[in-house]
Amino acid sequence: MAAYDIRVIGDPVLRQKANDVAEIDGALVKLVEDMLETMYAAPGIGLAAPQVGVDKRLFVWDIGYGPNAMVNPEIIEGDGEWVFEEGCLSVPGLSWEIVRPKKIHIVGRDLDGNEMTYEADELESRMFQHEMDHLNGVLLIERLDEDTRKSALKTLRDLQIGTPETKPAGGGLTLP
Ligand SMILES: [Zn+2]
Repeated sequence: MAAYDIRVIGDPVLRQKANDVAEIDGALVKLVEDMLETMYAAPGIGLAAPQVGVDKRLFVWDIGYGPNAMVNPEIIEGDGEWVFEEGCLSVPGLSWEIVRPKKIHIVGRDLDGNEMTYEADELESRMFQHEMDHLNGVLLIERLDEDTRKSALKTLRDLQIGTPETKPAGGGLTLP
């Protein structure tokens, strides 16, 4: 059994801007281990701390070259456009083709406090952008156009996934 239950859409923790990690200590290292276990069990290629109910700017990932974690990440710039069918463990079972920058430059800290910097492209870039959204309280459905978002929310209600959202981040749609 995974260390954590993954929070799903409707949980307010997914809609908060997470706080900077002030100190990298043993508790944070344990959190990363538990998040990786949860991510692999799901399975997923990335998982952000708010998805396990932890309000910290931290995510883990593995896109096929081993587990990794980044603390206090920041996307410096993006370039180009890339369409990719994107899903989210917090919006289970659904995915949409979403356009985002193809390449990004991201910097953050590793668990030793050293700077990490990636010039990421395609899948890696997409994963970073997706996890970064989680740290800013943004869910995948905000990346959809309005009609697609409405039908997505209806599908989620029909499937009884999560609980209906009454106050989406960033204005947008308010459900009755
Ligand atoms: Zn996600």
